[in-house]
Amino acid sequence: MNILQTLRRWSEEDQRVQEAAYRRNLHVLGITAWGMVALNLLHVAVFALLDFGEPVRDAWARQIAQAHGAMALLMLALGWWSRRLQARTSSRPWQHALPALTAVLVLAWAVALTLLDQAVSTSINAFVNAAVGIAIVFLLRPRSALAILVVAWCALAWTLGWTTQDQALLTTNRMNAASACILAALVSSLLWRRYVQTELLQRALADTNEQLERQQVELQALATLDPLTGLLNRRAFVRAAEAELARARRQGSPLSLLMLDLDHFKSINDHFGHPKGDEVLREVARLMTHTVRHTDRIARYGGEEFVLLLPDTSEADALHLAEKLRQALANTRIAHLATPVTASIGLACLPAHSTMDLDTLLQHVDCALYEAKHQGRNRCVAAPMQPPTP
Ligand code: GH3
Ligand code: MG
Ligand code: MG
Repeated sequence: MNILQTLRRWSEEDQRVQEAAYRRNLHVLGITAWGMVALNLLHVAVFALLDFGEPVRDAWARQIAQAHGAMALLMLALGWWSRRLQARTSSRPWQHALPALTAVLVLAWAVALTLLDQAVSTSINAFVNAAVGIAIVFLLRPRSALAILVVAWCALAWTLGWTTQDQALLTTNRMNAASACILAALVSSLLWRRYVQTELLQRALADTNEQLERQQVELQALATLDPLTGLLNRRAFVRAAEAELARARRQGSPLSLLMLDLDHFKSINDHFGHPKGDEVLREVARLMTHTVRHTDRIARYGGEEFVLLLPDTSEADALHLAEKLRQALANTRIAHLATPVTASIGLACLPAHSTMDLDTLLQHVDCALYEAKHQGRNRCVAAPMQPPTP
């Protein structure tokens, strides 16, 4: 990959994270502004107390104290403004511009402070500190950082000429300032690049996690639900029924099981086609779901065979529900068929305090269903259950 392609890719990546970087800069400004205020006030305290008994030095100390006082006020305002902008959810131009504007103001102030320092020293530390400081604190796109630093250096290099005629001093200070700007630009670019990579990596990870969670939900549904009706499948039903049975045995509460088989369903397929048969199955599932309590479990047990597990339900109540279901089916025009779809329902109730296992209960309910078919279909039959021997 050549350098142009790399730069184009970086530029695209920069744009993708730019909005997040604006927010992060505002957040950082909201915090560092208070640190700057504290630092400025410390300088105000130190320089206001200085008394050299020399007019030039005393004037310098006063001006430095005033410059730091002014900066403390400015930082207070910028910190407060950044907090207000952070609270806004919508993206505003000022949200984007404030950190860069702060960097420009800090550098302009550092140029002024450096010029003031020239009255008593040859140091340009104020400018160097500010250049490296903004490079570390703010995440600026390399070209913005470079533009700000170049303008700041030009301003310093030009105005330093007002303070001295000594060409050697002027040159070394200008070169030192240039080195500081290059170092700051490098630090800024490295930090920006690392931020872009981390941010994009985090987003990719978040996407993958979301995808994995979605797949897990889909897999869970595939493993436990019947795809045609959305009811529990046989395996999930057996697991749920085992748990309910154990609970019923522990608490000595009754539990009932219904097995519902559609009558002459094969003829529906034969007459109207398999898709119509599927539609009937889906509508029967919907009707049952709306008829039972939310604590009851319904599953598609086989082709046109459904089971309903009714916790805390006596035989009489279960028979009542079975009858209600049977009638609802017979009275509803399932899938717009001209003739009603009927069902035969077998019922078995686990007597209170019984130790019967699920397989045995299923055998009882199967026999009851067989009996309902045998007696002519479209009816409910309860399996005769023996109360447990004491
Ligand atoms: P009975 O009253 O004795 O229960 O008669 P039936 O016709 O309902 O019973 P049978 O066991 O003879 O036929 C069941 C039919 O259910 C046969 C099969 O093609 C159909 N079937 C099973 N699964 C599906 C399915 O997912 N979709 C459709 N459309 N039909 C199904
Ligand atoms: Mg059938
Ligand atoms: Mg059947």
